[in-house]
Amino acid sequence: MKRLVLLAILFGAFSCTRPDLPKLLQTATWIDLTHDFDSTTVYWPTDVNFRHDTVFYGITEKGYFYSSFKYAAEEHGGTHFDAPVHFHQGGNSIEKVPLAQLHGPAVLIDVSKECSQNRDYLVTANDITNWESRHGRIPEGAIILLYTGYEKYWNDHLRYTGTLKKGAEGVADLHFPGLSPEASTWITANRKVNAIGLDTPSIDFGQSKDFQTHRILTAAGLTMYENLCNLDQLPSAGAYIVALPMKIKGGSGSPLRIVAILPPK
Ligand SMILES: [Zn+2]
Repeated sequence: MKRLVLLAILFGAFSCTRPDLPKLLQTATWIDLTHDFDSTTVYWPTDVNFRHDTVFYGITEKGYFYSSFKYAAEEHGGTHFDAPVHFHQGGNSIEKVPLAQLHGPAVLIDVSKECSQNRDYLVTANDITNWESRHGRIPEGAIILLYTGYEKYWNDHLRYTGTLKKGAEGVADLHFPGLSPEASTWITANRKVNAIGLDTPSIDFGQSKDFQTHRILTAAGLTMYENLCNLDQLPSAGAYIVALPMKIKGGSGSPLRIVAILPPK
């Protein structure tokens, strides 16, 4: 019931009667924030690409059509989820992350202008508080989404990550924006949010050598989403996020299907 009331308030439909949740959700606009997975999907330079091999495709001996494939993937490539155990020993692995942490009101912070001028841009605490000065305090359980604008480079790996090299050489050449350790510390100290996501390969910027932002956020029990898309279609406030990772037992990360729900017009 608590969740129904929350959704009703979110959609501006609160009344004394029980809100009609199915109708609300059916008339809402759903936006997919997930990239396709295929052999061209962006993975870390030290990782292998997504594999999707045909087991069978065609007409069987008995005359009916049948298709089946098998896939293999690194946990941390494409649109994916980071569990707290990714950088924090003893932190929750995916199956232990409570369902309540897999959804929440979206806080969309647009840093696309800064990131278009600087591939190594680090989102500051000031960028976060600027959002609050326009939209109010970040609500408890929020999901902060950083729109860097790099999602538009997804099919151009050089522009998206800064390099086409593989292995350690590629890692050294990564250039894309991320969240600063300073802003991460501010968020974990001052606000209670469920997750932080963005449209680049990592929450730490490409040139990070020590993954401080990952370490700060996971130590506080936060989860992260990386390689998101369609953030350009979201309002600064008012969307609701549902992010469901594949439930890999003991997993530090996994492919993620993530959607934004916008109130009915
Ligand atoms: Zn990851």
